[in-house]
Amino acid sequence: MAARRVLIVAGEGLLGRPTGIAAQSGPACAHFSTSSNRDARHHKLVIVGGGTAGAALANKFGPRLGKEQVCVVEPNETHYYQPMWTLVGAGLKHFHQSASREIDVLPKKCTWLQDKVKSFDPDNNMMTTYGGESISYDYLLVSTGLTLEYDKIEGCVEALENDPFVCSNYSPYYVNKTFYSLRNIEKGNAIFTFPQGTVKCAGAPQKACYLAEDYLRKNGKRDKVKVMYNTALPVIFGIPRYAAYLNDIVDSRDIAINKRRNLVKVDYKKKIATFELLDSENGETEDYEYSMLHVAPPMLPPKELWDSPLVDETKFVTVNKETLQHTKYPNVFSMGDCANLPTAKTAAAISAQTGVVTKNLKKVMAGSEPTRHYDGYTSCPLMITKHTCIMAEFGYDGAILETFPINQAKPRYTMAYMKKLFMPPLYWLGLVKGLWYGPGPFRKLFRLGIKTSN
Ligand SMILES: Cc1cc2nc3c(=O)[nH]c(=O)nc-3n(C[C@H](O)[C@H](O)[C@H](O)COP(=O)(O)OP(=O)(O)OC[C@H]3O[C@@H](n4cnc5c(N)ncnc54)[C@H](O)[C@@H]3O)c2cc1C
Repeated sequence: MAARRVLIVAGEGLLGRPTGIAAQSGPACAHFSTSSNRDARHHKLVIVGGGTAGAALANKFGPRLGKEQVCVVEPNETHYYQPMWTLVGAGLKHFHQSASREIDVLPKKCTWLQDKVKSFDPDNNMMTTYGGESISYDYLLVSTGLTLEYDKIEGCVEALENDPFVCSNYSPYYVNKTFYSLRNIEKGNAIFTFPQGTVKCAGAPQKACYLAEDYLRKNGKRDKVKVMYNTALPVIFGIPRYAAYLNDIVDSRDIAINKRRNLVKVDYKKKIATFELLDSENGETEDYEYSMLHVAPPMLPPKELWDSPLVDETKFVTVNKETLQHTKYPNVFSMGDCANLPTAKTAAAISAQTGVVTKNLKKVMAGSEPTRHYDGYTSCPLMITKHTCIMAEFGYDGAILETFPINQAKPRYTMAYMKKLFMPPLYWLGLVKGLWYGPGPFRKLFRLGIKTSN
């Protein structure tokens, strides 16, 4: 029997678009919430956000604690494997391959409340939702990810909506426009941007640039299109070992790198992108004509967290960087993009965090102290061409944590196959199912415990 659900979900969604009052339809779901007593709702563990991190933890604790004890609050009916959007933007995968129904990634043994948290009250172990629920909990996992803030760039939303050559691999609404732009650009500037502040998968904007350059070259357009990467950062990549190779690659492929430039305005009618010069003392800007513009937007945790005591002044959830336990509320953990961890925000990082939070939350539930430590493991498969990839793997303080006993900073065919063929099933069958804790054990085995120097 098909059920139609009408939800009040205000604010901005994952897509960076205001969701307003959303009416969503979907199949009847065996484990949808059916509670009608809004005053009495209580769950032992509440997971806010059913993305990569939330789904992984739900799959660890749902079967263990039972359907009524674990509640996932997640407004969206579709779960995306976001790392695939790099390949979708380059025409190497289809968009539909990145999507699954949320109900299929969550375990049967959990309650899915298809709603959005409006406010958090951790002093009373409570939260409220836009749908009017009050929820109390014994333990809380905050895994809300990041919101895409395209509207912080003047004219950007209008440009994304109206100019077929303004695109963004970060959003399911705009990722298909990237390959459209590549197929149809004839000449002029193809500009790829990197914003100020924290972003998820900091390598994604430059991967889009390398794959675009590769496509343009292989399709005979490269001599008429100037490719440039305008980044707010002072370096091409934060880890020197990989930056050294990347600098050589952009030089040899004639990709212009313009550093300390932050996109502040898009005028799609004039085809002008305006960048503030971050090192200028008097707020100077620079205008660039574009034929194609790929935007990586500024990002922040969702605004529902901003006024809560769960976050610090940066608006990220404050956790101990080793145990992932909240620094003020011991019954609260956070993992994924919204946690204030000083490492790159990726799905790969979540794989290692899943093992740590699972172990530590079980300890806390049993009345003990958390003991498992996260080393900041993260990974960024930097697609250099459609057939080659630098597999960057590192941890806190830039420690190199490469898995294989080869130099992974060199572009390799094998790593591109890993990214294209091996990682999607690893995500759907391993990571979101809570079965993949990252490659740590393989690293120890392959490298016999020997560390790679930076
Ligand atoms: C283009 C691109 C390329 C990438 N490439 C890679 C890569 O190659 N390798 C890699 O490892 N990672 C990559 N990533 C990063 C990776 O996808 C993310 O780091 C990861 O998916 C984040 O998971 P999360 O659970 O923290 O957040 P998400 O998966 O974004 O989930 C957060 C969930 O919280 C929900 N939510 C938000 N607010 C609320 C609320 N108030 N109440 C309830 N629910 C809420 C949202 O609806 C969402 O479903 C890439 C990302 C992009 C966009």
